[in-house]
Amino acid sequence: MDAAAFFSLFQGYSLAYDDLILLPSYVDFGVGDVSLNTKVTRSLSLALPFMSSPMDTVTESKLAIALALEGGLGVIHYNFPPDRQAEEVAKVKRYKNGFITEPYTLSPMQTIDDAAALNEKHGYTTIPITHDGSPHGQLVGLLTKFDYSHRLHKGRKIHERMRALGEIPVARHDELIENNELSLHLANLMLLEKRGIVLPVIDAQGNLEYLVTRTDLEKREAYPFASLDAKKQLLVGAAVETHPTARERIRKLVQAGVDVLVFDTSQGYSLFELNLLQETKEQYPHLQLVAGNVVTAEAAEKLIAAGADAVRVGMGIGSICTTQEVCAAGRGQATAVYACAATSAQYGVPVIADGGISKISHITTALGLGAACVMMGSLFACTDEAPGEMVLEDGVQLKKYRGMASPEALAAGGAKRYSLEKERVRVPEGVAGKVLSRGSIHSWVPLLAAGVRQGLQKLGARSVTTLQQALTSGAIGIERRSEGAKREGGVHDLY
Ligand code: 5GP
Repeated sequence: MDAAAFFSLFQGYSLAYDDLILLPSYVDFGVGDVSLNTKVTRSLSLALPFMSSPMDTVTESKLAIALALEGGLGVIHYNFPPDRQAEEVAKVKRYKNGFITEPYTLSPMQTIDDAAALNEKHGYTTIPITHDGSPHGQLVGLLTKFDYSHRLHKGRKIHERMRALGEIPVARHDELIENNELSLHLANLMLLEKRGIVLPVIDAQGNLEYLVTRTDLEKREAYPFASLDAKKQLLVGAAVETHPTARERIRKLVQAGVDVLVFDTSQGYSLFELNLLQETKEQYPHLQLVAGNVVTAEAAEKLIAAGADAVRVGMGIGSICTTQEVCAAGRGQATAVYACAATSAQYGVPVIADGGISKISHITTALGLGAACVMMGSLFACTDEAPGEMVLEDGVQLKKYRGMASPEALAAGGAKRYSLEKERVRVPEGVAGKVLSRGSIHSWVPLLAAGVRQGLQKLGARSVTTLQQALTSGAIGIERRSEGAKREGGVHDLY
């Protein structure tokens, strides 16, 4: 059946991604010809249909930078004060490929043990030393692994062993300017010429700005699909609460250069969100506003009328989420995405399918039901770039992942999203747990993207846009999967 007929047959049912299957179509092109380019808000396109969830175990600047380099978009969470969140946004906007913007530093008064601990924990063997130990403090020297022996110099102060300023190569910012831009090429030449292991870059006052390392230069990759703004800075999103306090936060995020603002609440069809949306659109007409979360066509339409540039869809279906079990409210994600996308398409507003993506096929299904993009929590919390420590359990590498309405995250400030901050007694709507570690975003995202390209090719769609057109024209066949079909579609009967 085409989508319209299928969903009218299943009116009154909440269907999940796994409940349906898309039929293959005629193919006359290769997987490599498939483009995943997609419009994620009214005026913003990305090379990949991937956004990361604004959660405190998923998106801070490190992940947002890595994901934007690959062609997606990170949305910085708001479980910290507005200034800290704005600083995370600024870090993404300041990012320059090949230049480390937040180097690990120590002060001359710290000890060799501190340097050894940094080395052990992060593997860094060369550490810039700044006057106060801060990443952008006055540069006073450099400590390399050849400058000390942890055994012999235990407890000694760093200034006794560090290389002083005159002994190390240092570049002034203005020495590296080429065509009005900081040039990695010039940094590379200087590093080679001076035979340095690292090149600290300082400003006119002698404060450390960046660090360039030989290792990074040698493994430096080009990111042809990076998500960039008109000034060639990486794109970044940030989440805000739907509360009066959001106004101050929005002002600071705009100052920091945020490109996409996400109104983050589990129930976005509310008087306050509609008002805040309207007000923010009037005040910042060029800022792209993502509204949500909603799961019905009626709610999507109201958000669009109030100024939404994209609608975020999903309620109670996240992997760490217990809203449906606590509140009896929500909707099966396949049904919700189709309902909202079919309506939003009439206004040219993209839908972001948020949550419940636990395998690659779910991404393709979401796109096949009309979503322009998916937002993922667990599938990004598992990467090296997500905040949070790696833990080893039974020999397996895991990363911590928690719902923003889990008891732990609520205590740390997440209550805003669930309108629970004023309640004395709260029932959590999420849990905390761990996910399998998947390595770096830079290997994980290309893998996800390759899987989605294979999916689109089987469906006969050369691009996300042609897939959306096929959905609207009724060219995509959809069937309900029986329990037997689901079993058959998974791995089975192996010895
Ligand atoms: P995942 O990709 O892990 O399946 O879902 C991530 C999404 O779940 C987030 O983008 C957000 O919309 C939602 N979410 C995050 N934390 C919680 C929570 O504690 N409870 C609920 N109900 N939803 C959550």
